[in-house]
Amino acid sequence: MIYLYYTDQFMGYDFGPDHPLQPVRLRLTYKLIEEYGLLDSYDTELVEPYFASEEDLLLVHTPEYLEVVRSEKPDLAFGLGIDDNPVFSGIYDASRLMAGGSTEPAMRMTKEDCCAFNMGGGLHHAMPSQASGFCIFNDPALAICILKRRFKRILYIDIDCHHGDGVQHIFYDDPHVLTISLHESGKYIFPGTGFIGDVGTGDGKGYSINIPMPMYTYDSVYHHAFDEIVPTLFEWFRPEVVVAQLGVDTHYSDPITSMNLTLPGYRDIVSRIKTLTDEHAEGRLLALGGGGYNLELVPLAWAIAFQVITGETIPDALPTWWVEFCRTMLGRSRESLVDISPKIRSEEKEQISSELEDTINGLKGILSDIHGVF
Ligand SMILES: [Zn+2]
Repeated sequence: MIYLYYTDQFMGYDFGPDHPLQPVRLRLTYKLIEEYGLLDSYDTELVEPYFASEEDLLLVHTPEYLEVVRSEKPDLAFGLGIDDNPVFSGIYDASRLMAGGSTEPAMRMTKEDCCAFNMGGGLHHAMPSQASGFCIFNDPALAICILKRRFKRILYIDIDCHHGDGVQHIFYDDPHVLTISLHESGKYIFPGTGFIGDVGTGDGKGYSINIPMPMYTYDSVYHHAFDEIVPTLFEWFRPEVVVAQLGVDTHYSDPITSMNLTLPGYRDIVSRIKTLTDEHAEGRLLALGGGGYNLELVPLAWAIAFQVITGETIPDALPTWWVEFCRTMLGRSRESLVDISPKIRSEEKEQISSELEDTINGLKGILSDIHGVF
């Protein structure tokens, strides 16, 4: 079975009209998925998530932090009340609903072989006692903690434009959780971490993998970096289940980042993850949303990601209401919906390619020393 986790109540996770994270992107994603008929198949089911319980949240977060979130009072020591993470009315329940969208399928996956997609999840920056980067509770980490009840080898892959720092931090000394983050380098962008030398500690040494990329990294070099590193790690680690954070803020149109992927380029990365999961983890995939701040792009990208997960086909033509929505609500022209690759000069392409090649070779050297792979 393939479960889609969604409820209109996800709209409650709302930092306000001027915040980059606009919850309407989730409702639009759901509407596109429904319109494309991706829920019509007998083996696909829509599930409304429950609220993650306090007991679940305590798997990762501290009691003091839960108390602060529940109090709805800004507290800078806990990352709450700054521009990125303003406090809003109902923040505790809204946040534990997003978390429930990931803990509930994780629970299900401990009893049943299945796939799930929680488009409201992927809040990968949250720390045990700190809100960070629009993330209050770290649902990927919570889901992984639950999956550990059944599985000994869990692979977390994060293709968001930002480093998956919270998830990495929580499992930094844990050899049962292999985290792989591909992201725009921390030299240029929040949270400023995730370099090739950050490989884990203690028993977890060599189980945190980072592939930082130059600004303006484009499809073909991204795919090359992925292909050079990730399939070998799947073969070596032999995951029993895969958790994938599918942030789409790597797209060239994203307003807060500087990578250069196209929509077909993004789809091909999701396809690779799906294929590797089928080959190595018997298809057990928990897919999560994440970053993505162009309202015109995110719903399309995640509808396509869900299409890849279900194996269904969707028509090339965009629904009329969608084109109309983008035109009237977002002020976009029909032409802007056509996904063309951004133009960068060939000398810039060469520089990006050679910088990324150095990263790949550096990382291979490090992993070869630790594990003897590559
Ligand atoms: Zn991001």
